[in-house]
Amino acid sequence: MTLPSSHQLTRRATLGALMSLGFAAPALARDGFSLGLGSFSTNDIKNIGKMLKGISLDEQDEIRMGEAYYGPIIDAEGGAYANRSVQASVQRFAAPLFETSTRSSFSWDITVLDNNEINAWALPGGKVAINKGLLRYVDTAHELAAVIAHEMGHVEFSHALSEMKKGSFVDGLSGVTQRTLVSELEGGASAAAGIGMGALRGPLTKLVTSGYARKSELAADQHITTVFEQTGYDVAQGAAFYQTLLETIPKKSKGTTSLFAGHPETKKRLTALLENAPGIQVQAAHPSSWDFEGLKKTFPTRRFFNRHKG
Ligand SMILES: [Zn+2]
Repeated sequence: MTLPSSHQLTRRATLGALMSLGFAAPALARDGFSLGLGSFSTNDIKNIGKMLKGISLDEQDEIRMGEAYYGPIIDAEGGAYANRSVQASVQRFAAPLFETSTRSSFSWDITVLDNNEINAWALPGGKVAINKGLLRYVDTAHELAAVIAHEMGHVEFSHALSEMKKGSFVDGLSGVTQRTLVSELEGGASAAAGIGMGALRGPLTKLVTSGYARKSELAADQHITTVFEQTGYDVAQGAAFYQTLLETIPKKSKGTTSLFAGHPETKKRLTALLENAPGIQVQAAHPSSWDFEGLKKTFPTRRFFNRHKG
């Protein structure tokens, strides 16, 4: 995977973007505009929006965002499921999948959330979360591995950053949030630990939990094949989870998740995934099956979606 060229740019490029919008240095000082935690006038906020669209976010920003938001979004999405052995099993299960990552500077992590929705998500920098609701519907180790590999794809290809750079994402942010985002990107850890950690949390949560552009979802599906080729899982068996989603989620349901994109679209994705799946040497006794069996003792497989039941 070749990273987008923006990854090679540095923080100076951010300043460059500012300059190109007409923020000459003296003007910065005169208007009291500061890239730190300084004050902004209402007029500046419009320009921050413009600036965010042209900003160069690099790999360090991804790592920082993942580290800053993983805990708060976990808390907002039901909190970590309070069962150490479940958490440890999922971590062991995911470890060989994470080893296939080409993003070597990322510190990959996975947490099971106390949330009954059938969903999973990932933040930039390699921070993955799986709802306990999803663990109830995956029937084989291949299916769980497919979900994790799909989420890894979003991280590998920096899909969250691509979305964040879109005008619609920036325009949807309040002035305060835009200002906070600039502060966080420029101020680094000190800003991230300080003001506004809640400000971007909402928009970022919506972004990572509700799915990306069609092209990105297809790329994430394709990444399942890449990961499976190296880990000995079977794409066809993994793809069965999409079939489960089609069967369990009501036809009229408009809700989309990081995995389920509505009925016709999910069906198309399932077909595309199977068409592109090469013949992989499947490991008969996969080392992760023991952990999967352990998880199934806590989360026996359900066939009918019931988001309200325990
Ligand atoms: Zn997705």
